[in-house]
Amino acid sequence: MLKKIDHFGVAVHGIEKALGVYRDGLGLEVGSVEEVPEEGVRVAFLPIGETRLELLEPTNESSPIARFLKKRGEGLHHVCFQVDELEKRIPDLRSRGLELLPGYPREGAEGERVAFFHPRSTGGVLIELREKGGGGSA
Ligand code: ZN
Repeated sequence: MLKKIDHFGVAVHGIEKALGVYRDGLGLEVGSVEEVPEEGVRVAFLPIGETRLELLEPTNESSPIARFLKKRGEGLHHVCFQVDELEKRIPDLRSRGLELLPGYPREGAEGERVAFFHPRSTGGVLIELREKGGGGSA
């Protein structure tokens, strides 16, 4: 059911400062930057071969990323797998003990449907599933 690692997410205090490492240091290019108001974040995607790095910067204090930074500091935040037919997979995943975060699935970055599963149900990793191409038809 998992197609590939779509991206991995890194929580940062500021995208500009983080680009000093990932763009200027490691030589990655910035593919896109956008704000996702529903999540209280600004995100930058940096392609790496078949996958991407997502930098997440909080845009307000109640953002989940702001809370993460306060608790754990900057660092690896989540891993995102690409799936087909996200909505159809969810009941099955829940029946296998994966705990869907409240409010998901919903539209995330790049207008695609996303769902997050709580790290306490996945062995400590926040897992994002994301539908390929939107609408499940692509
Ligand atoms: Zn993500």
